[in-house]
Amino acid sequence: MLQHQDRANHRTPRPVAVAPVGGVASGVAVVNNAERARFWSRVHKEESVTSPHVDTPCWTWTASRNEDGYGEFHSGGKTVKTHRVSYELKHGPPGASVLHACDNRACVNPDHLRSGTQADNMLDMRSRGRAHRPRGELNGRAKLSVQAVRELWERWERGESQRAIARTLGVSRAAVQFVLNGTTWSDIHS
Ligand SMILES: [Zn+2]
Repeated sequence: MLQHQDRANHRTPRPVAVAPVGGVASGVAVVNNAERARFWSRVHKEESVTSPHVDTPCWTWTASRNEDGYGEFHSGGKTVKTHRVSYELKHGPPGASVLHACDNRACVNPDHLRSGTQADNMLDMRSRGRAHRPRGELNGRAKLSVQAVRELWERWERGESQRAIARTLGVSRAAVQFVLNGTTWSDIHS
């Protein structure tokens, strides 16, 4: 039956009330028209292109952002990252990370977003020259164990902030940042 084939062949967001399982990779909670309208009402479509990596303008999230600069949207009792919401609304549930082609973390233009793994995210940052070089005493490698680094990645992929992760693991936020941007421990992934 055609209807069944349609369902099998498309990766459309699932029509459920809330995302059924936890974790950032499981899809987001924006499911009904009212929530979608509320989401898009907080987006400002820029008039000009500001990134050399894309040829269309960014769509800026105008409401709250987290400490890392990503937009946040509260929906269905959860706080979700807005670029992940935008990605899912257009393309379906994303993978572990959603990457910005435009390098603008507040951007929710789905054409600037692609889904990837955490490893992709680090490669992407390196290729753009955003990864910092270790700076002697600031190199946090000595303070973390392999196990702690794995835990760090797990927490990051669940959406925890750098500050919260640093507090939990008992290291500086800089040390957390150095792991995330590949300066230290780039051989260890979760
Ligand atoms: Zn953009």
